[in-house]
Amino acid sequence: MASPKRKRGLAVTAVIVAGYVAGTIVAVKQGYSFGRSVPVRCRQGHLFTTTWIPGASLKALRLGLWRVQWCPVGRHFDLVRLVKEADLSPAELEFAAEHHDIPVP
Ligand SMILES: [Zn+2]
Repeated sequence: MASPKRKRGLAVTAVIVAGYVAGTIVAVKQGYSFGRSVPVRCRQGHLFTTTWIPGASLKALRLGLWRVQWCPVGRHFDLVRLVKEADLSPAELEFAAEHHDIPVP
């Protein structure tokens, strides 16, 4: 028989998982993409690509579409934000593709 405490723990886990799934679906619908090479911009405006897999990250603190990570362009830690590919010019996309951070999700 499951105790009320364990049931509450399961409910909290379910809510967190549902939040991740819902957040990812909303972000994809808004035009954001996820995967091995997605464009991001740090607070200082540097563009680069990174590996961004929703719900799975070893190297970054996650804050929805924001997270704190290493910026390989300015060589500093900063808040970076997912960028929609559609919002970038071909030159910006090319610049971002040339600056990929370490390939660890
Ligand atoms: Zn930067």
